[in-house]
Amino acid sequence: TISMLGVSKLYPGNITALHPTDLTIEHGEFVTVVGPSGSGKSTLIRLIAGLDKPTSGTIMFGEQIVNRVAPPGRGVGLVVTQGALYDHLTVDGNLRFPLMTGGVTEPESSERVEASAKRFGIRRLLGRKPPTLSSGERQLVAAGRAAVRDTRVLLFDEAVAGVDPRKRRQFREYLRTLNDGTRTIVYATNEQDVAMSLGDRMVVLDAGVIEQVGRPIEVYTAPINTFVAQFLGSPGMNIVAGQISGDGTVLIGDDELRATDAPTGVTDVLVGIRPEGVQLASGSAPFERCLHARVTGVEERGSDRMAHVAFGSPDSGAVDFAVRLSSDRPVMAGDRVELDVDLAAIRFFDFNTGVRLG
Ligand code: ADP
Ligand code: MG
Repeated sequence: TISMLGVSKLYPGNITALHPTDLTIEHGEFVTVVGPSGSGKSTLIRLIAGLDKPTSGTIMFGEQIVNRVAPPGRGVGLVVTQGALYDHLTVDGNLRFPLMTGGVTEPESSERVEASAKRFGIRRLLGRKPPTLSSGERQLVAAGRAAVRDTRVLLFDEAVAGVDPRKRRQFREYLRTLNDGTRTIVYATNEQDVAMSLGDRMVVLDAGVIEQVGRPIEVYTAPINTFVAQFLGSPGMNIVAGQISGDGTVLIGDDELRATDAPTGVTDVLVGIRPEGVQLASGSAPFERCLHARVTGVEERGSDRMAHVAFGSPDSGAVDFAVRLSSDRPVMAGDRVELDVDLAAIRFFDFNTGVRLG
């Protein structure tokens, strides 16, 4: 179990990379760390690895405080985007390298290298040297090398950034096989879909602050604030301004939605609706679920289509609102449409702070 208690990291120049943070990662868990560039993902990973020292707070592995324990003593494997490989050694030599110091016998060493190479799909590369590999292949080798030592903790930092999409999918499948409860995995990425699909739990970071921790589906359906709501999903949650009236009706533009659980005691709110929580009405939608909108564009995405719509007059500076199109009904920019809103899927946020209400 990895525990961080009030752990922060300041860099010279008064740059706060990580505000005081509490986080516990259970043994055997696969935790993904997701956030935009500069949000502190690498900092978090480096602190766990021991490559950086916290400015304040305590990092524990089990019962042991590891603040002063150097990386080799922590028993963690780290895979980073620019994972340094030994260019003069073959891939086999690179995979074998971490085992040289560990008192591992030669047959066992070969067995582990073989298993790791198989796991990461790089057996055919074993005889080659890193300079002859593509950047994606080098990352797979770096991952294979980190896994070979059979450490209790594996850390990944944007490990598949340079790998092409097909290899990435393969790589993620390998990662899934690593998630067998015997090791703890922390995986940092700026790709929200990867974080959601891989993690048992997900940590969402923004500007050095953990915004939310939870099972991906929980975080997706019950985001703690508008940042998390909009960061997760492709596109993220639609957020529009609305007003709640005394009887719980939600006014958006000129339409009144009869939401099932509108918060009480507030008037101005931000209303969140995911693209899949609304569809084009076939015919006309019941008024209590209906939003009138105008189509500003249609996005072809292969597996589905997304309509972008706006409310109000063209020059009202209306926000972009995405609607997943479920039918192949022809829709074009300029069309006026009725949207049918799934009332139970509406989320409410504080108008000023963006924090979820209720
Ligand atoms: P991420 O991995 O999410 O992109 P990082 O953890 O690398 O974010 O960085 C978090 C913040 O800390 C950023 O603002 C970054 O510029 C700053 N930072 C990271 N490393 C250093 C450093 N060595 N010196 C100064 N600032 C740094
Ligand atoms: Mg980073």
